[in-house]
Amino acid sequence: MAASGTGLLVIIGAGLSAPSGVATFRRGGRTTPLWQRGPALSVTDWKERPHEVWDFLEGRIAGGGVRVQPLAHRPMARLLARLCTLGGKLTVITQNLDLLLEQAFDEAGLPLGHPQRPKLRHVHGRLGWRCSHCGACGDLGGSSGAPPTRCQACGRGQDRRNAARVHSGIRPDVVLFGEQLPGWFGEIWDAAPTHAACLVAGSSLEVTPVGSLPGLVSASGGAVVVCDEVLPGALQNLAGERCRWLGGDIAASLESLQAAVAGTI
Ligand SMILES: [Zn+2]
Repeated sequence: MAASGTGLLVIIGAGLSAPSGVATFRRGGRTTPLWQRGPALSVTDWKERPHEVWDFLEGRIAGGGVRVQPLAHRPMARLLARLCTLGGKLTVITQNLDLLLEQAFDEAGLPLGHPQRPKLRHVHGRLGWRCSHCGACGDLGGSSGAPPTRCQACGRGQDRRNAARVHSGIRPDVVLFGEQLPGWFGEIWDAAPTHAACLVAGSSLEVTPVGSLPGLVSASGGAVVVCDEVLPGALQNLAGERCRWLGGDIAASLESLQAAVAGTI
């Protein structure tokens, strides 16, 4: 799949985290008051109800008190580690806020900076906090997943129930609906047609502009491989030679893909 040497673009979506019990916006699962109401994590939500945005994010970490296991992320981490050994350009973007793939790499003995751990780019941000003043950021840690009460770099504080004070300090490290994607996404968009192949794992491709990337790879002659229970609607017209769909359980699909890649080494 990545043997041509011109690179592989990997797009990860909520379907990868669904087996772990993390709610997806398309399939439901664990629901929250925010997304039941409509737009979740929007700029308006943050301006008007900052404490509910924090509650939403913390809820996605705490997982109802049960430690969330990176079930499908484990074969994905093994697959990506294998792909790293093939050489060539490997671009991995995730639409997920959770850090479960990072957790799977850590569990596999592949810490940050390891040559078999590719850079994982969170196009919609990550479950973390960011200081509006100094730009410091960090994970939402602890069993509750709560942000720190003060920026660990500049010392600015926050009061999550007081919108004025919240907005003068620590904010979620996520791209809220209504905000711009990170600047580096433009480079990935421009480079998409230069990839030999695109692997889509658990993304419905319904969110733009990420959802258009596989089409850009395919339009320039690249192959598209999809691991998901359902074939995204955006790829229906590519089904066949130019788009290979591995349906069913996503963890099993990734495991078989990993075994196939391992067989090429
Ligand atoms: Zn700060």
